[in-house]
Amino acid sequence: MRETTPPVARYRGRFAPSPTGPLHLGSLTAALASYLDAQHHNGDWLLRLEDIDPPREVEGAATGILNCLAAHGLKSANDTIWQHNNWDQYRAVCLKLLNTGHAFYCQCPRRHQDELGRCVDDCKRRDLEAPGNNLRVTLPTKNLDFADRIYGLVPAPTHNFDNAILWRRDDLPAYLLAVVVDDIDSDINHIVRGDDLLHETHRQLALYQLLGKAAPKYAHIPVVLNAEGKKLSKQTGAQGLDNTQALWNLQRAAQHLGLDVSPHEAQNHPLALLEYALQHWRLPSARLQ
Ligand code: GLU
Repeated sequence: MRETTPPVARYRGRFAPSPTGPLHLGSLTAALASYLDAQHHNGDWLLRLEDIDPPREVEGAATGILNCLAAHGLKSANDTIWQHNNWDQYRAVCLKLLNTGHAFYCQCPRRHQDELGRCVDDCKRRDLEAPGNNLRVTLPTKNLDFADRIYGLVPAPTHNFDNAILWRRDDLPAYLLAVVVDDIDSDINHIVRGDDLLHETHRQLALYQLLGKAAPKYAHIPVVLNAEGKKLSKQTGAQGLDNTQALWNLQRAAQHLGLDVSPHEAQNHPLALLEYALQHWRLPSARLQ
């Protein structure tokens, strides 16, 4: 009998910004890393706007992010996915988990949750109803170590994070739910993102396991820090990028990823810089702990 090897799935990666402010050097660096890694593997690079948290959103930020990515030559393989269009999928997963007894409503106010944000009351046994309550999921706690392509083996924490919010009491889906459901729906098999999310990954892996789906491979790149050693973000006062300085911005992002941008091919035009960065692409090193 002739042996057949299973087909290798085409690489599918994504960049998934939250429209809570303009794109800054830190988010451009994550976008560039995920873009280059996808191109390097002849894969698809999808773009998804994670607009599930209106109270934290800034008006115009989503369009600003899309314009900024386009100005920097970062084009996605798909029409942009907007999470606000996907609530039916999120609800369907919640319903499935409720029906299988894995999800339950919880009325613990934040001050009654433990330091890991878990329900410490017996809400699960009380069969509570939806209005005004968080929907939580009971997560598996075994086999959650993973091999990050940059950080190597990342052991699951020794403390249990055995329940987490899926749907918030203010009637909004939680990031954990939306990110996993969308990555599954889009067949994402590679995630390249900032290392601020390294330890969120175990919880996401637990949800993949519960849903019986294969998890993607992860590479967590060191996030860009400001002068005080804090992650660049809206909260730490990161400046939005100037689209007229695309080449300069891309050079800074590429340097952060460990690329030498001194050769003249990297000094001409944003698209030439992208081409050069692709030819020299390799994942950056882990941040020393
Ligand atoms: N939307 C998240 C953020 O902007 C990123 C989610 C992810 O890459 O998994 O921080």
